Amino acid sequence: MLELLKAQPADALLALIKLYAADERSTKIDLGVGVYRTADGATPVFKAIKAAEARLLDTQDSKSYLGPEGDMGFVRAIMPWMLGDFDPAGRIDGLQTPGGTGAVRLAADLLLKAGVKRIWMGTPSWPNHVQIFNAVGLASETFRHMDVATQRLDFTSLEAALDKADAGDAVLLHGCCHNPTGADYSEQQWQQIAETVAAKRLFPLIDLAYHGLGHGFEADGYGLRAVLAKVPEALIAYSCDKNFGLYRERVGALYVMTESPAQQPAVQSNLAALARANWSMPPDHGAASVRIVLEDEGLTKIWLAELDSMRQRMRGVRDALAAHQSIGSVNLAAVGQQNGLFSVLQLNADQIAALRADWGVYMAGSGRINIAGFTDANIPHFIEGLRAVTA
Ligand code: PMP
Repeated sequence: MLELLKAQPADALLALIKLYAADERSTKIDLGVGVYRTADGATPVFKAIKAAEARLLDTQDSKSYLGPEGDMGFVRAIMPWMLGDFDPAGRIDGLQTPGGTGAVRLAADLLLKAGVKRIWMGTPSWPNHVQIFNAVGLASETFRHMDVATQRLDFTSLEAALDKADAGDAVLLHGCCHNPTGADYSEQQWQQIAETVAAKRLFPLIDLAYHGLGHGFEADGYGLRAVLAKVPEALIAYSCDKNFGLYRERVGALYVMTESPAQQPAVQSNLAALARANWSMPPDHGAASVRIVLEDEGLTKIWLAELDSMRQRMRGVRDALAAHQSIGSVNLAAVGQQNGLFSVLQLNADQIAALRADWGVYMAGSGRINIAGFTDANIPHFIEGLRAVTA
C-alpha cells in the first residue's frame, strides 16, 4: 500500500534553514524562519515564563489527564486580554488547543459540522490556512489582501468578495500583524468589515496569532472587538506561541461566541468531541505556564515589559528600513507602516536567488522577510545587496 504514496515537496522554509546553516559567510542574514529574534539572533525563553516553569515544577503533583478542554484557568485568563472592554455577557467561552494551528483546525471542523460549506480568505496568507480548510473539506475562496507591488491593502477586493459571499459562508480575518504582509486594516476599515459581515450574515473566523506584537493589546484587539460587537456568532483562534515565546510548547485556544449564553453548552460539547477525535487533549506545560504568569501580578509585569521590548525592537527595525524609502521595485517606506514579524518585498525569483547567492540574505521564495532577522549591524549589508540585485 505505502508504495502508492508519492513523496511530498520538502517544506521550503525548512530547506532554507539548512542552506543558511551551511553558509559560512559571517555577513549572512536569516530572514526566513518565522520566530522572534533578539538583536543577538537568539529566541530566548521569556523570563516570566522561566519563573512560571520553575513554580510549575515545584508545585505540580500530578501529570494525570485534564480532559479535551485542557486548562480552563488558562483559557479564561486570556479572555480579558483578548476582549478588553468588550463584555461577552456569557456568550463567549473556549477550550485549549495545541497552538493556534490546533485552534484553526478545530474552528474549521466546527464550521463544517455546523453546515458551513466555504470560507473566504485573503491572499497571501499563512500557508497552513488553506491546507487546513481543504483537509477538513471546507472549500476556500480567495480575494487579494494586498497588492505586493504597491504595498497597498486591496480593500476593494475584500469588499467584492464579501459582496459575492452567501449568507452562512465563513470569512477568515487576521486580527492583527497579518502573516505574511504585515498590512492590517485601519479602524475605519474594521468597522466597515464588521458591518458587512453582520449585514450579510457571514460567519467570521478571526485568527489572532500575534496579539500584542503590533501596537499593544488594546490596539491589536480593535478589529476583533469591532466584529464581535456587530455579529451574533464568531470564532477566535488564539495563539500564545509568539506573545509568550512558547512556540514548541504549542499553546493556543479556540473561542466561540454564540448568539445566546444558552447555546454555549452544546457548542462546548461539540468542541470537546472534535478535540477528542483530533488529539484527545492538548499538551499542558506551556498553557499552565501562561496561566501562572497571568495569575501573578509580578510575573505579568515582567512579561509585559519583555513584550514591550520585542515590539519596540521590531518598530525600530521597521523605521530603519523605512528610512531608505524605496530601492528599485521595493517600497521600504511601506514596511515602516506595517505590523508584526513579517512583510513581503516586491522581488522576483532571480532577485531573491541573487540575494542569497551573492549577499548571503536568506528569505522565503515569496519575498517574505522576518523583521526580527535584522539588526542595526546587518541592515546596511542588506540595503547594499538590495541595491545591487534591483539595479
Ligand atoms: N495563524 C497564523 C496567522 C500564524 O502565522 C500562525 C503561526 N505562524 C498560526 C496561526 C499558528 O500558530 P501556532 O504556532 O501557535 O500553531
